[in-house]
Amino acid sequence: TDPALIRNFCIIAHIDHGKSTLADRMLQLTGVVEQRQMRAQYLDRMDIERERGITIKSQAVRLPWAPTTGDGAGTTHVLNMIDTPGHVDFTYEVSRSLAACEGTILLVDAAQGIEAQTLANLYLALENDLTIIPVLNKIDLPAAQPEKYAAELAHIIGCDPSEVLKVSAKTGVGVAELLDKVVAEVPAPVGKADAPARAMIFDSVYDSYRGVVTYVKVVDGKLSRRERIQMMSTGAAHELLEIGVSSPEMTASDGLGVGEVGYLITGVKDVRQSKVGDTVTQLHKGATEPLGGYKDPKPMVFSGLYPLDGSDYPELRDALDKLQLNDAALVYEPETSAALGFGFRVGFLGLLHLDVIRERLEREFGLDLIATAPNVIYRVIMEDGSEHTVTNPSEFPTGKIAEVYEPVVRATVLAPSEFVGAIMELCQSRRGSLLGMDYLSEDRVELRYTLPLAEIVFDFFDQLKSKTRGYASLDYEPTGEQTSELVKVDILLHGDKVDAFSAILHKDKAYAYGVRMAGKLRELIPRQQFEVPIQAAIGSRVIARETVRAIRKDVLAKCYGGDISRKRKLLEKQKEGKKRMKMVGAVEVPQEAFIAALSTD
Ligand code: GDP
Ligand code: MG
Repeated sequence: TDPALIRNFCIIAHIDHGKSTLADRMLQLTGVVEQRQMRAQYLDRMDIERERGITIKSQAVRLPWAPTTGDGAGTTHVLNMIDTPGHVDFTYEVSRSLAACEGTILLVDAAQGIEAQTLANLYLALENDLTIIPVLNKIDLPAAQPEKYAAELAHIIGCDPSEVLKVSAKTGVGVAELLDKVVAEVPAPVGKADAPARAMIFDSVYDSYRGVVTYVKVVDGKLSRRERIQMMSTGAAHELLEIGVSSPEMTASDGLGVGEVGYLITGVKDVRQSKVGDTVTQLHKGATEPLGGYKDPKPMVFSGLYPLDGSDYPELRDALDKLQLNDAALVYEPETSAALGFGFRVGFLGLLHLDVIRERLEREFGLDLIATAPNVIYRVIMEDGSEHTVTNPSEFPTGKIAEVYEPVVRATVLAPSEFVGAIMELCQSRRGSLLGMDYLSEDRVELRYTLPLAEIVFDFFDQLKSKTRGYASLDYEPTGEQTSELVKVDILLHGDKVDAFSAILHKDKAYAYGVRMAGKLRELIPRQQFEVPIQAAIGSRVIARETVRAIRKDVLAKCYGGDISRKRKLLEKQKEGKKRMKMVGAVEVPQEAFIAALSTD
């Protein structure tokens, strides 16, 4: 295709503002998906995506379009639409999708207005120098306020309110005009046709039949079928078994040239061999300079995952291996816990990523899991200068600690201005420091905070929602680390540490955690033959204490009295129960107690 006729664009929006629905309408209008095959959110292929209505993996699709109005009217153009994931955890994937485009539709719900992810995505688009087409969606809704929000949108991107298009992705109103505007306003891609090939990987998906399908945008040169290609970050070489475009089903071709977006198949079996952000070139006389932007995904949040039934450990390992084929950001290593047995310490990009993986393990692989409370990565500097990276609180070093570093994020909260007080209070209680505050319009405010990541990985978003009656939206990005006065709190049962309950906390919060956990465990641990002290401690200093009293002799006697069949039943029941008991030192703890204690409420 002549690059002059290509338009590469994406749609960015806050979650639920209608990106996938708009994509559906575009598929229909351009005729690439026949009416009878159409189903809602055609491009969201993963089950969890469809159920939760969110897009996790991005997809690209080629749409033929001959505008009826404006520049280019009457000529069939090739529009490559890239559907991007909309959630904070996947910001890096969003930024790679954006880098494959020359323009973007900034879509805003006409009944909601601008939200935190609208802004976060807008900033990414501006960083990538994209042409921005502002669009209000859902104008069919009775609650829509198109004039008000057109003014808001125009204000943040600096255009005239009359330039904001108004559409309904549901009814299709305005969508053809929008496609015309994409042709007229988004610049055609530019690249060097006779230079060595350089193509950027913006997505990489594992398919059980074909292996890894890699989505690329060719920036310079040409990639051809049967050619040997090279991944520039690793130097690994592969044969290009198939190359083509998705429209939206995969259609093979002879090659892809400047500005084209399509897919590659090389037979590799693992997405880590074909990483988002990497540059593909020819093996023979290939490019020497990669395109900018490659970055290894970095896990931010860790959790221990343990099979409820210890004999499921091999299945859990196989399931993680399989998921990793399609998820370069998923990392894990075996871990043993005295309390929970054999499991894995798993690293995630963020909380949604953790949720999605856990849910897939349970649903697609039928595993019952215990997950320990999520924690972040800490860097501990000892007085002797040695350094430890801690991904599991129970491995926090003992001895003389000079400094502890924790990751921090820059968070943006958008909400109606009446909630400013409540939001500030919440952020302060989470050790946040205010960076700034702006009114986007007279009743909507943007608050920017630096917050420790550890303070938001737990229930921050839920709290924010409940304190603002669901109106606040949140976005955040990692911005580095800070030193803090952090301590490890251990929980001891009958003098023995329970590794799964160790937590790293700010010293001002350690006491409350100790009291809460000790109290919870006292309720959950059944009486034993002897008294069981429960202690929370920082090092050797006990900060909270509870006791589970011993069973009294006469209670025991009563248990074992009665007729013989009842006694046998009781014994059998006890045997069954034993299987789900874990020994922590001398104390028998039912597994349910661990699960309950680790639950978030
Ligand atoms: P995404 O998260 O941005 O991909 O949003 P979806 O496309 O999944 O849409 C979220 C919800 O808004 C769904 O229930 C859609 O049916 C609904 N929706 C999307 N566009 C419109 C529209 O133009 N009008 C109305 N009334 N509802 C819409
Ligand atoms: Mg979607």
